[in-house]
Amino acid sequence: MKVLKFGGTSVGSAERMKGVVKLISDGNTKIVVLSAMSGTTNSLIEFTNYLRIGNITGACEHTTVLQDKYKHTIRELYTTAQYAEMANEKIASLFNHLRDLAQKPLTAELEKEIVAQGEIMSTNMVTLYMQEQGIDAVLLNSFDFMRLAPNGEPDLGYIREHLLPLVDLEANGRIYIAQGFVCLNHQGNIDNLQRGGSDYTATLIGAAVNAEEVQIWTDIDGMHNNDPRIVDNTKPVHHLHFEESAELAYFGAKILHPTCILPAKLTGTPVRLLNTMDPTAEGTLIDNNLTRPGEIKAIAAKDGITALKIKSGRMLLAYGFLRKVFEVFETYKTSIDMICTSEVGVSMSIDDDRKLDLIVDELQKYGTVTIDRDMCIICVVGDLNWENTGFEARAMEAMKDIPVRMVSYGGSNYNISFLVREEDKERALRSLSATIFDEKK
Ligand code: ASP
Ligand code: MG
Repeated sequence: MKVLKFGGTSVGSAERMKGVVKLISDGNTKIVVLSAMSGTTNSLIEFTNYLRIGNITGACEHTTVLQDKYKHTIRELYTTAQYAEMANEKIASLFNHLRDLAQKPLTAELEKEIVAQGEIMSTNMVTLYMQEQGIDAVLLNSFDFMRLAPNGEPDLGYIREHLLPLVDLEANGRIYIAQGFVCLNHQGNIDNLQRGGSDYTATLIGAAVNAEEVQIWTDIDGMHNNDPRIVDNTKPVHHLHFEESAELAYFGAKILHPTCILPAKLTGTPVRLLNTMDPTAEGTLIDNNLTRPGEIKAIAAKDGITALKIKSGRMLLAYGFLRKVFEVFETYKTSIDMICTSEVGVSMSIDDDRKLDLIVDELQKYGTVTIDRDMCIICVVGDLNWENTGFEARAMEAMKDIPVRMVSYGGSNYNISFLVREEDKERALRSLSATIFDEKK
């Protein structure tokens, strides 16, 4: 049994919804997770912004504009008056509910109830359309099983226990449709899995039902091996290990968020990234396998980095020095990305420089501090276990003409990071691609 997730663009119009239904109706039983139609969640957030400033009329007018879009989609989606009517009624009742909510004082809980409506709308519309087409489609209510534990994290045990009785995994070709993103918190109030959280819904459901695969359908053909905006001829990476994909996600590669991968990693459920616009393309498979030792799979970069160096004679042979340095960053709630040490100094990189002046003031107690701004982390990812050989040399070879401020390897088995000037980023990405991918036999 597979779990398939389609994002907002994939269900962004009647045309796209029909495309999705065609794609999923292959006679196999599956669970399909849907996002809200593209633009809807943002629009619902705008609706709450009106309420926040007490502009109830503005909020209600705003819903009328959004509702028109839904009316239009309904006109284009259904072929029978009966189903169009059912969809219109359902959507109208949800919009009326929104306008009722607008009369209440805006609280954090109310806001969450409001932004949840987008997924409720899209799943109802698609399920009705499938039923109109004679497909055995069953709408699941994600609030019946998707729940957070008291620590705010999804409660996989609860999810499994409450989802399994709702689905018949042996059903012949039945398609279950569920809302992405939405959930209840541990107190039973409406909550969500954060923006873009439908991917997370899919991997959680996949883990709960022990799916053979979770498919994330978007409008790109998988994860690319370098930034296509900068480097020509980038290619989709056909296979990544869970850890490799986590490394890439931290560096802003357009891929699943690291937390979304956790449930799949935990249960070893493979995750496949596929393209709705090109359904037969291979996409990217993410699982627990390592294929070719030493293989570099992808390169990603993150701009806007600041490097700090603290040099101190007192660091030599001293203990407790790094603790004091780290405490400064902790005090100012600034996370450190890269770190390199020598006997007499330590360099670190941060991407949030809002507290930089305060941090530097304190660090000066421990040594001479120098700052380099407008830097960029280039991250080289692959099966880079230290017992493999050659990959460091290939990466270094590519960087031979580029001034490198820091190098970090050994933090994980999956990454080498270089800190370079932002202005050298494009050159570095191109050179790495040429050296590593173009010359690969
Ligand atoms: N609709 C939500 C959002 O736009 C969740 C999602 O699309 O994954 O963030
Ligand atoms: Mg979205």
